[in-house]
Amino acid sequence: MTIFKLGVVGQPIKHSLSPIIHQEFSIRTGIQLQYDAYEVPPEALDGFITNFFKDGGHGLNITLPHKKACIASAHVLSKDVELLSAANTLTGKEGGKKIVADSTDGAGFIRDCEDKNIQILNKNIIILGAGGASQSIIPSIAKLGPAKLVVDNRTKNKTNSLFNQFPEIPLLDLDNFNGPIDMVINATSAGLAGSFDWDIIHGLDKETIFYDLSYGPSETPFLQWASSYSTHKFDGIGMLIFQAAYSFELWFDIAPPTKHIKEILFKNND
Ligand code: NAP
Repeated sequence: MTIFKLGVVGQPIKHSLSPIIHQEFSIRTGIQLQYDAYEVPPEALDGFITNFFKDGGHGLNITLPHKKACIASAHVLSKDVELLSAANTLTGKEGGKKIVADSTDGAGFIRDCEDKNIQILNKNIIILGAGGASQSIIPSIAKLGPAKLVVDNRTKNKTNSLFNQFPEIPLLDLDNFNGPIDMVINATSAGLAGSFDWDIIHGLDKETIFYDLSYGPSETPFLQWASSYSTHKFDGIGMLIFQAAYSFELWFDIAPPTKHIKEILFKNND
């Protein structure tokens, strides 16, 4: 029986939940796999990826800080990867001679919104952050026709580079927006330090949805901050699970069942 060799590459990587998620997909689909977490520094990335696939590896997930750099090792880029200049999934083809790069973060975010009945069409949406995560969800959100898509970032000139990266998408700066806000998405790593605060002066109310791309076993600092406005609050664990499911589908052409994986993840991380 074939045991497919898979993994996730990042630095640091030891807290990654991806090995548990893919192990669970393996149980649920009957596909035998070995999925490991690899801590790889930037200077060793290309050699690691090339050798992984040469040695029979089937697929890799790529996480921080390698999502941009990894595409230099790929031979074929999906349309999303070309647009984002970043990837989170690599697939080995033709015995490892051809590496295909895809990005499943945007699709994973949208799938989680659908799962939670979060509407994007005609809504005013604010994204906090202008890093890789923000960049990866913007085109997917824009496709669904929000009324206004607003971006705010601690370092203002990074917002401008994001706007330049997506000239086709009508993005707005928070300073130029003063309507009601239907949804605030935290795509920063600001909460990692333990607390969260953001200067949004108007537009928030008890119907605003707060979605944190970050996640954890307890409520995230962003969602704690949001509690004073609204009870409509979601963390990014659903997105993590769905982006993993899309990677699995790219590798095996099978959509793995995703129900109740959150409970398994946090049971394993007590
Ligand atoms: P990144 O490229 O390093 O960008 C980090 C962003 O956070 C930048 O906009 C940065 O602003 C901002 N930031 C960092 N510390 C801050 C602070 N103290 N105050 C205000 N802003 C701060 O990281 P990323 O890849 O975008 O990831 C962002 C978050 O999304 C991470 O927590 C990651 O775990 C999460 N994420 C989740 C999923 C999922 O599947 N759920 C997928 C991808 C990412 P400056 O430009 O000013 O530095």
